Amino acid sequence: MKSLAEYLDLAAQAHGHLCAGQVLGIRLAMLGLRELGIDDPVAERKRLVTFVEIDRCVTDAVALVANCRLGKRALKFRDWGKVAATFVDLKTGRAVRVAAKESSKQAAREMFPELEKEAGQQKAYAQLSDEILFDKKWVKVEVQPEDLPGFKGPSSRWPHALPLLRRRALLRAIVNGE
Ligand SMILES: [Zn+2]
Repeated sequence: MKSLAEYLDLAAQAHGHLCAGQVLGIRLAMLGLRELGIDDPVAERKRLVTFVEIDRCVTDAVALVANCRLGKRALKFRDWGKVAATFVDLKTGRAVRVAAKESSKQAAREMFPELEKEAGQQKAYAQLSDEILFDKKWVKVEVQPEDLPGFKGPSSRWPHALPLLRRRALLRAIVNGE
């Protein structure tokens, strides 16, 4: 795993800006991987499937650290609106869910009361302990075969076919002057 500072640099580049959500997401994913004992998520990219429960800044940062991409089927989105992610180790079958505590915002405010909210959270989320920021829980997750990275069944071929059909329909419309 890289250091927090290195991930912050990479996140700012990939996401377009650095923000409190990214700092929190990086910390969240680093904790999840540490719990699973996955030290090099790039070298061990086939080992991990990550379920994120929110589609905001946090998500990009989690995907970056966990090295999980939607396009590789290693990142799954569950629209539950929680700043949380579950990391599933396909090698051991263990899974850990890490969620940001509601109280983490308050903790950030108390740490840097003189700063405005976003700036204070950015700094505080980089410094507060894992225990103050997160709840973690071992969970049981069954990853279905069709959800595994590299699955080549009908459900993974069909989405590729859709844009093609749409392109054809569009082309036909243009040719027919519709
Ligand atoms: Zn952001």
